[in-house]
Amino acid sequence: MKVLVCGAGGFIGGHLAKFLYKKGLYVIAVDIKWDGFIPEPFCHEKITGDLREFEVCDALTKGVDWVFQLAADMGGIGYITQVGADIMKNNALININMLEASTRNGVKRFFFSSSACVYPEYKQLDPNVTALKEEDAIPAQPDQFYGWEKLFTEKLCEAYKRDKGLDVRVARFHNIYGPYGVYEGGREKAPAALCRKVALARDGDEIEIWGDGKQTRSFCYIDDCVEGIWRLMNSDYDQPLNIGSDELVTIEDLAKMIIEISGKKLRLKYDLSKPQGVRGRNSDNTKIKQVLGWAPSTPLKVGIERTYRWIEQHIRERLRER
Ligand code: NAD
Repeated sequence: MKVLVCGAGGFIGGHLAKFLYKKGLYVIAVDIKWDGFIPEPFCHEKITGDLREFEVCDALTKGVDWVFQLAADMGGIGYITQVGADIMKNNALININMLEASTRNGVKRFFFSSSACVYPEYKQLDPNVTALKEEDAIPAQPDQFYGWEKLFTEKLCEAYKRDKGLDVRVARFHNIYGPYGVYEGGREKAPAALCRKVALARDGDEIEIWGDGKQTRSFCYIDDCVEGIWRLMNSDYDQPLNIGSDELVTIEDLAKMIIEISGKKLRLKYDLSKPQGVRGRNSDNTKIKQVLGWAPSTPLKVGIERTYRWIEQHIRERLRER
């Protein structure tokens, strides 16, 4: 079977391409740039292309069985709260082009990477948040433009399924983290940013937390995410499905966990001027258990330890090279 992984130069796309490659599928990987960290080999063909251009999407989807669409202009809270127009324009173009090209070229199944950012702000005002069920997305009120575009593309997938018969699968990822992810530069997410800060700190230093640290999230380990994508693609479930952990943690406790793993003695400093996103967010995994008979299960402590070790090692190697 021939599969196309869009966004394979990125974090989840890179891990997914490697997973599919190891399974023995013929993997075509595409990205606009290749600055990710996944060790090669992870594909049979590596193509550099801009998926905002229809001709590129058209050429790539010819003769492909399954498409995994993970290409997106995205980043952590520091990025998506600052950038609106470019995120919406770039991602809508990529998704429209990929759905249209996949339909025209007879792709058998299409995976779209949606996000927990589709969920309405009014359901996420309390740190002791009630976990989000798939049906909570409507009536809609995502807190960022990024989430509105994801919701639009979920609907676009539904419309392509109804009107043009494209077989779609849609996952809503909840904060995916793990080794080989970006940890600096402005697009990194909270776990990677905190790991970087701790790795760079010396005993006795202070590290900065965005907000008051009481905001809550759940974080899903990358291996669980990739396994979930694979299981969803092999299922007959064609509605949006959460892929997330339901282990809720405050950002402050996450920072303390990383400090403990590092063995350092550090203090926390809170910057209330920095964006913190919704107050609380958790994944309700009732539906995924029901339809896939499976749910993400890697304990946060285990996944964070692997992530911290990778980031620490990567920073050390880079400093040595200088
Ligand atoms: P990432 O930024 O690491 O990967 C996205 C990749 O898309 C990048 O390598 C980027 O170069 C590529 N890309 C961007 N514009 C492109 C274009 N015009 N043409 C071709 N490639 C282009 O992000 P990620 O964390 O791996 O996320 C993958 C998908 O999952 C995205 O759709 C993202 O919105 C979604 N998602 C991720 C998370 C998470 O926690 N990481 C959570 C929810 C949803």
